[in-house]
Amino acid sequence: MIISVASGKGGTGKTTIAVNLALVIAGEKDKNVHFLDCDVEEPNAHLFLKPNITNRELVTIPIPEIDDSKCTYCGKCAQVCAFNALAVTKNKVLVFPELCHGCGACSLLCPEKAINEVGKEIGVVEEGKADSIKFLDGRLNIGETIAPPIIKRIKKKALTEYNLEVKESSGLNSQHIVLIDAPPGTSCPVIEAVKDSDYTILVTEPTPFGFHDLVLAVEVLEKLQIPYGVVLNKCDIGDRQVEEYCQKNSIPILLSTPLDREIAVAYSKGIPIVNMNQAYREKFLKLFQNVLKIMQN
Ligand code: SF4
Ligand code: SF4
Repeated sequence: MIISVASGKGGTGKTTIAVNLALVIAGEKDKNVHFLDCDVEEPNAHLFLKPNITNRELVTIPIPEIDDSKCTYCGKCAQVCAFNALAVTKNKVLVFPELCHGCGACSLLCPEKAINEVGKEIGVVEEGKADSIKFLDGRLNIGETIAPPIIKRIKKKALTEYNLEVKESSGLNSQHIVLIDAPPGTSCPVIEAVKDSDYTILVTEPTPFGFHDLVLAVEVLEKLQIPYGVVLNKCDIGDRQVEEYCQKNSIPILLSTPLDREIAVAYSKGIPIVNMNQAYREKFLKLFQNVLKIMQN
């Protein structure tokens, strides 16, 4: 079963929810947890799970390199590039590697076969274990902007190399729980991270920004046809807009957590709250059970 944890905006406590949920599920009998930190611009789950990293792999994307001896400057490559990463002049093809998504369309469609692809390093994927939890995260290099290839690599490693095909990991009785900590927002990296999920937990807070970005995140999940519910963090601050919106749209609120000094202190020390406080352990277990119950229905 693949559960992703996402949020329309940063700073809502998404990673806190994902990490604590992973720990309580890992404590359940017959459950293997695979934690995928796909927030590759700012991965920080490792600060709490403290995995022992055993493998690191560079991630590259294929960037076009023009063979001037074959190029006729016809302009087809620039026309096909959806990201404006190529410009063709009378006697030169300019490549802007920082805009290239490595989609391969230009080399595929070049009539003269004048484009070779060269690998450009954009980041790294790390693999390890945090007690019984299998851990993967990715890190986008500073200055790079294209996160989806790293997210794709993390998911491929988890789902293929652990012999954990999407269909195998799906289903309520699956022994394997893949937990994905998605990037914040609603753009391409989020979609890459949450697609294939059986369920998505949307973490938000009861503020105007939290409400606004929750609505955007809900629209994305509706389009992707992924079932979802909400975790309301710092539920005792702000206003009631999020609750009213959820009620009106029959969106389940799976868990509400207060603005609690104990959570903040634990967070600042890199300690997951479920390792400090039994009441929170029970709350997070209830969250997991709520997701299972909804999926069952
Ligand atoms: S499509 Fe090929 S031949 Fe045409 S401008 Fe681009 S690289 Fe040159
Ligand atoms: S690989 Fe794709 S994104 Fe990169 S330059 Fe070619 S068409 Fe554009």
